[in-house]
Amino acid sequence: MHHENGGTLHVLPALPYAHAALEPHIDARTMTLHHGKHHASYVDNLNAALADCPELQHRSALWLLLNAGEIPVAARTAVRNNAGGHLNHSLLWRAMSPSGGGEPTGALADAIKRDFGSFTQFKARFAEAGNKVFGSGWVWLARAQRDGGKLLVSTTSGHENPLTQGQFPVLVNDVWEHAYYLKHENRRLDYLNAWWAIADWDEAARRYEMSGNAAAQSWKYEDGRTLAPAGP
Ligand code: MN
Repeated sequence: MHHENGGTLHVLPALPYAHAALEPHIDARTMTLHHGKHHASYVDNLNAALADCPELQHRSALWLLLNAGEIPVAARTAVRNNAGGHLNHSLLWRAMSPSGGGEPTGALADAIKRDFGSFTQFKARFAEAGNKVFGSGWVWLARAQRDGGKLLVSTTSGHENPLTQGQFPVLVNDVWEHAYYLKHENRRLDYLNAWWAIADWDEAARRYEMSGNAAAQSWKYEDGRTLAPAGP
């Protein structure tokens, strides 16, 4: 699709699995609404916010987050919120898999043990941090881009992404109520604990590898649609 001003519109990426594929941990109805309504609305609202900014229409969602100062003030909040929503959900779909679960292996497993003590301690830290997010936000396993590349658990509110704080996202979960309320109601911790059964450690290992590869960090400067090879 092409915008009338010549820019390419942001598009909703297809889910990499069927809506029911993460059952029973995440129900099909939640996935249908979360992807087809919530994520879709961030894409639509981002395109709408960029309608009056033709000079920004070729920029990726990530570029827009990392270069807030380049966005006209009148559009800045809407662009930030919706670019973040688009980017974070694109990462989320890939952080989960019907063949997920289990434990990480290789370099990522070693780093988790080094920085958290054990995989069990990491999981407890992640679930506790996610459960404590006040209101709507995200919980991340991220790698500091300084300090020797230490792994850490961090949280962001709204649709902020840790890349704007110098942390590279390795694994992510969404703790907005729309991510779990139909099945788990107010019991966010139940959702966070159930979620381990679908966490995709292959994807996390791939992102961990990417985080340490300076050449792969060309995503920082990219103008295109994709945060290669993992989405916008
Ligand atoms: Mn969400």
